[in-house]
Amino acid sequence: LAITLSGASCLAQSPQNWEGDTTEARFVDNLLQKMTLEEKLGQMSQIPLNQKEDVSPDERILKGQVGSFLFITDAKEINRLQHLAVEKGRLHIPLIFGFDVIHGFRTIYPVPLALAASWDPAQAEEAQRMAAKEASAVGINWTFAPMVDIARDPRWGRIMEGAGEDPYLGSQMAAAQIRGFQGDKIGSPEHILACVKHFAGYGAAVGGRDYDSSSISDEELWNIYLPPFEAAVRAGSGSLMSAYMDLNGVPATGNRFLLHDVLREKWKFDGFVVSDWESVKSLTTHGFASGPQDAAVRAVNAGVDMEMTSHVFRDELAAAVKQGLVQQSTIDEAVRRILTAKYRLGLFTSPYVASSRAETELVTPEQRQSARKAAERSAVLLRNEGRLLPLSKSLTSIAVIGPLADSQADITGSWSLATHPADAVTVFEGIRKRFPSGTTINWAKGVEIERVQPSIFDPQYPSPKPVLKTDAERDAEFAHAIDLIKQSQVAVLVLGEAQTMSGERASRSTLTLPGRQQQLLEAAVATGKPIVLVLLNGRPLDITWASEHVPAILDAWYPGTEGGNAVADLLFGDANPGGKLPVSWPRSVGQVPIFYARTLTQIPNALDTRYWDGSSAPLYPFGYGLSYTTFKMDDLKTESISVKAGSKLAVSIELQNTGGAAGDQVVQLYTHQRSGTASRPTRELKAFRRVSLKPGEKQTVTFALDTNDLGFWSPQTHRWSIEPGPFDLWVGADSSATQHTTFTVLP
Ligand code: BGC
Repeated sequence: LAITLSGASCLAQSPQNWEGDTTEARFVDNLLQKMTLEEKLGQMSQIPLNQKEDVSPDERILKGQVGSFLFITDAKEINRLQHLAVEKGRLHIPLIFGFDVIHGFRTIYPVPLALAASWDPAQAEEAQRMAAKEASAVGINWTFAPMVDIARDPRWGRIMEGAGEDPYLGSQMAAAQIRGFQGDKIGSPEHILACVKHFAGYGAAVGGRDYDSSSISDEELWNIYLPPFEAAVRAGSGSLMSAYMDLNGVPATGNRFLLHDVLREKWKFDGFVVSDWESVKSLTTHGFASGPQDAAVRAVNAGVDMEMTSHVFRDELAAAVKQGLVQQSTIDEAVRRILTAKYRLGLFTSPYVASSRAETELVTPEQRQSARKAAERSAVLLRNEGRLLPLSKSLTSIAVIGPLADSQADITGSWSLATHPADAVTVFEGIRKRFPSGTTINWAKGVEIERVQPSIFDPQYPSPKPVLKTDAERDAEFAHAIDLIKQSQVAVLVLGEAQTMSGERASRSTLTLPGRQQQLLEAAVATGKPIVLVLLNGRPLDITWASEHVPAILDAWYPGTEGGNAVADLLFGDANPGGKLPVSWPRSVGQVPIFYARTLTQIPNALDTRYWDGSSAPLYPFGYGLSYTTFKMDDLKTESISVKAGSKLAVSIELQNTGGAAGDQVVQLYTHQRSGTASRPTRELKAFRRVSLKPGEKQTVTFALDTNDLGFWSPQTHRWSIEPGPFDLWVGADSSATQHTTFTVLP
């Protein structure tokens, strides 16, 4: 087979003219047979833009020493490098270009934790479909997303990148995002390859410290941390990233149990595995590998197919193969998987991106509209005393206050590396635009916020650096903000964390509002004016004081490019909040890790009193969120009192919008298995649906509860099964749902 790929002339020999899987396999095998060992190791290497090396990236391409680049976002450069690979490279093998498209590319969508707060997998799918469309317009073929690490400790900054604490919600969001990125199948036009990460247990870093090791029992691993990965694999994720840290004493990137036994043997994953950034080389740092060669050998033998940024595969594996430390067949398998992904993406036939796309498809009105809707659907209304919200549209003076109120960079949050901050709409701007020029919209920062310890990533983010000020200047800035509040009818305080305060390397030892934001909030409340707190955040923050003193609290998370418009829509009632918490919201950092699906040793009502110095209940439970309307749920029914293991049980409830506005309710179904071969959590989410109802409207919400979802991995039997017996079932609007019934699972 001649694989000449210059433009249309190659179509006659193009692999896509051959039908079926065998042809895919034949094409890849054929190519593999022609490759030297060096060229194979090249396919297994991914290098970043501007890597400082003696050999230039162009030369590496020509010599077949690289298979993938990351972090290149310029369509012309992508096409230029691709041209070198497919026209000048000996075997004309296309490159694959990867980038962290985590929540948008140029148009930024709400962060993944916020998308999870929509409790709407279709919304998450849509956001990632739009993100893929934009990224593919510059020639990116592959995203390092979704991150599906379960996280129960908000000190960990990357809780922002996942779906929160729950394996069921996490699995739904994982599968939805894979569909969004990849479309119906890998290679769908305007879609990109997904990469589920970080396999596995990264979210359980001890102390919430990023990159620290995770110690996870088998029971938790199988029942909590692995299910979202399995869901992503089943949804067809084309690739998977191994994690940085140790899992139970073995680095995830050298962990054959994870990468082979679970991933390949059990789940039959047929995509390829990429390491995390230098995580192959750093197997030596763990006190695991004895040197670079040992690191390469142990990673590839464990199941890593492509090495990100370090280059011990390229430098060490040829000798290792000759010494018999690595089988030639292991290398061939890795390369086969990488080439298969490139084949499925259509890169052998359409390696280039049309340059017109980058000019016309970025930050379009369609993208903006979609991002705005996503931000509206992700926001969670935490408190609304006296129905302060929605605010009247005929206010004549509003103060919009806080260090995040008018920051275009901060509203996009972490992992918005390719966006242009100037495209973003701040909350101040979003509010200002809706009022005629006669209305006074006052703005002041009030306080500056900054990280105590800087991050090596800070330079990559456009987040504005606070201006150094004297104490007197800072006091004057503070006093000015309070004066503006006094002069206004209402104040909206936009507080939370700046862009670099959550995300990678952004763990915290407290959850308080950084800087003097708490003082600002207290001084604002002391003015006696109605205060609305809008939070911009990537994690639950300590708002226990606010939950008693600030009448309205709207959690907007990092809502993205259209965040300011979305927040304004929500504040003035053009959109009605319907998001729900994907995490239990702690009262203070001392409660973490915190999650609802616990097991008990005492009667349930003793649950709240385990700390003598405070409540052990969360401030807001998992699944919680208010609306501008009210809902009633009653008449919970199951179609029968028992169900055979493996089949489905219909469960229904009557939902009614009893308030005066159209709105959404998320109907949530929780179960509890009363006895088993192992202790069972008090409650576990097993189904949910976000329903929109007009005022007065009533709907019967029916779930087909799948008993397969009631199975679990038992630490006694060491296997996954559905154990017959009696179950409790609750349906309601959060994890403290009270509508209750029971049913029995029969063998
Ligand atoms: C992160 C990954 C990311 C990679 C490439 C790493 O530091 O852990 O999540 O995909 O960098 O940016």
